[in-house]
Amino acid sequence: MSVTMALIGNPNCGKTTLFNKLTGANQRVGNWPGVTIDKKTGRIHGHDIDVVDLPGIYSLSPYSPEEIVSRDFLLHETPDVVVNIVDATNIERNLFLTLQVLDLGIPTVIALNMMDQVEKLGDKVDVDRLSKSLGCPVVPISALKNKGVDDLVAKVERAAASGHGPDAVEFDRDIEDVISSAVSSLGDRVPKERSRFYAVKMVERDERVCGEFPDTCEAISSEVEDLERRMDDEMDSIMADARYNLISDIVGQSLKRAPRNGKGTLSDRIDRVVTSRIWGIPIFLGVLSIVFLGIIGFSWGDFSITGIGTYFTDWLNGFIEDPIQSGVAEWCASIGVSEAMTSLLVDGIIGGVGAVIGFLPQMLVLFLALCILEDIGYMSRIAFVMDRIFRHFGLSGKSLIPILVGTGCGVPGIMASRTIESERDRRITAMTVTFIPCGAKLPVIAMITSAIFGGNGLVAVFSYVLGIVVILISGIILKKFRRLSGEATPFIMELPPYHIPSAVNVIKGTLDRGWAFVKKAGTIILLASIVIWVLSSYTWGLQYNAGDINDSILASIGHAISYVFMPLGWGDNWELSVGTITGLIAKENVIGTFGTLFGIEAGESGEGLEAVLGTMLSSASGLSFLAFNLICAPCFAAMGAMHRELGSWKSTGMAVAYQCVMAYAVALIIYGILGCIDGWNTIMVDGVATDLGVPVASTVAAIIVLAVMAYVLWAKDPFRQLHDGSREASE
Ligand code: GDP
Ligand code: MG
Repeated sequence: MSVTMALIGNPNCGKTTLFNKLTGANQRVGNWPGVTIDKKTGRIHGHDIDVVDLPGIYSLSPYSPEEIVSRDFLLHETPDVVVNIVDATNIERNLFLTLQVLDLGIPTVIALNMMDQVEKLGDKVDVDRLSKSLGCPVVPISALKNKGVDDLVAKVERAAASGHGPDAVEFDRDIEDVISSAVSSLGDRVPKERSRFYAVKMVERDERVCGEFPDTCEAISSEVEDLERRMDDEMDSIMADARYNLISDIVGQSLKRAPRNGKGTLSDRIDRVVTSRIWGIPIFLGVLSIVFLGIIGFSWGDFSITGIGTYFTDWLNGFIEDPIQSGVAEWCASIGVSEAMTSLLVDGIIGGVGAVIGFLPQMLVLFLALCILEDIGYMSRIAFVMDRIFRHFGLSGKSLIPILVGTGCGVPGIMASRTIESERDRRITAMTVTFIPCGAKLPVIAMITSAIFGGNGLVAVFSYVLGIVVILISGIILKKFRRLSGEATPFIMELPPYHIPSAVNVIKGTLDRGWAFVKKAGTIILLASIVIWVLSSYTWGLQYNAGDINDSILASIGHAISYVFMPLGWGDNWELSVGTITGLIAKENVIGTFGTLFGIEAGESGEGLEAVLGTMLSSASGLSFLAFNLICAPCFAAMGAMHRELGSWKSTGMAVAYQCVMAYAVALIIYGILGCIDGWNTIMVDGVATDLGVPVASTVAAIIVLAVMAYVLWAKDPFRQLHDGSREASE
């Protein structure tokens, strides 16, 4: 008969590494918590054992949806064996979960992981003693080095065969008395093995369990209150204390820590600088700048360096233009393909898809940089450093992990918001994660950078900083809505030791993401390019209109929309509005659309994509265009992910509306204010630099918007009082 084994443990204790070792699977291993969100299953090679990798959790009192996933699995799908992974370098905190797992009465084996680290530190663990204290088998392993894993499997098989649950680890007499009352009051309404778990949770006043068995809760409530009075504390902290006391006894008996030398490990010493109050942020900005100088380059006055990404992107763009586009055009002419068909192929398809694919080198460098930073362990340091800032704004530092994931793609970023316990923070994070530029927005950034700012990578750094600032501002604003108000929860996150990035991990991660980008170009972008071509090549009367694109269906739609964006400095350039709208399908489409449209126009004027943009956008309106496209509603896929997390179309619609309004406000402020700077509102007209001067109306509007924003930011939080009041009442 096949055996089901569940892997459970704190985030980052090595569950996925062990899962991969056991099953030969290739799940993503992350050097930060929150990477495994749904449970995954696999089979141990050569054994009749199915393994389930559950999300990492700190406790079985569920706060966040992923904790609920893990707990419900253990309670309702009852696996035959639980393997509780304990990070031996962090044993106290890990045992907090272990004690609760043991209460479940399911046969349990403890895998004491990271033993290689423990040995390096010189600590000694008395495994037999630990096993006796916890009442279940303990197996020292190193998932990473593949040590002890076979022994673990053997113990798992034995535990499954015996069907024996662990012996209870008991608390002090007075707590045990209340637990016993709860057990007898529950009677046989829960399986006998599980009754201790339910009883303990009930004593802790766990909301879910009390909701399930209100009468038992009622029956023991006087005993619980009595205990609280005697201990002069609330029940949940009494239980937490009791657990930590037990843990410190157990660990005191079975672990001998080697004296740490004063300086700490190399990681500790690096962290003292990298996460310091003073250097943390400058180092982060420095790293960001280096990454974008590498991808895009830098230019200031006469001085300029081309980034590796830009170098290859320029080359690839050239290659797409000639020989590909010109070659196809010639070939079409030589075999007598019609003008419309040639244009569809050359301008529509190759122009649209090619404009996106041209950015592949820059994307690959971005993905490579993200993968390296993640694998080294720097990403969790960024979260740690930013947490200090975020806390000032009342946002949980936990929001940072979704944001960091969102630099690659917003969809997993939004999904990663599930790791956040507080409902309020989770919703706010899901709504604001996409403000951070995702990989697909990089081409938009790169295009504006090279067309308007001579290839200065600092524009990209600006984009990321803008994203973070808008997230922070949104945190404050959204908290003032009733549904999203509430208290911030504390952020616990350990910093995993730095390690040299594994080439396999990094290359695989980079290529996976690069391939996803190419696939998108070949499907969604291809389709969108064809639609854009049709709409821009035909008039309302369905006349093929090679003569003037301005008579096309798309131009008239774009013109209508362009009035909306005029205050942002986009002029009556309908192409910009169309690009923004098609960007909703996928952000690369902004570029793809320009590729198609300007390709058709270039046929008339002979100008390239970047030169055309220079005639439409100044420095100020270029940044406003960029800001709007980065902040406004994300692509449809991300909206779908938002819907899954927010739970209703109404909330999703409101979130999208909020994003669009925010984008408009920010873009207006950027254009209105920067447009006042001498020379920042200059565009090319017939090859001559022409200063448009101060955009007076936009500037006035920008000042009004700034004032409104300041008012909302500093206005008293209407729900603050409410929460303070309710907290006092409960004390
Ligand atoms: P999960 O969050 O529990 O799934 O943890 P992961 O499997 O993603 O591992 C988190 C980090 O710990 C990764 O960087 C792993 O490489 C590392 N790790 C896992 N097992 C071991 C081990 O036995 N020894 C050491 N030194 N590192 C490990
Ligand atoms: Mg994992």
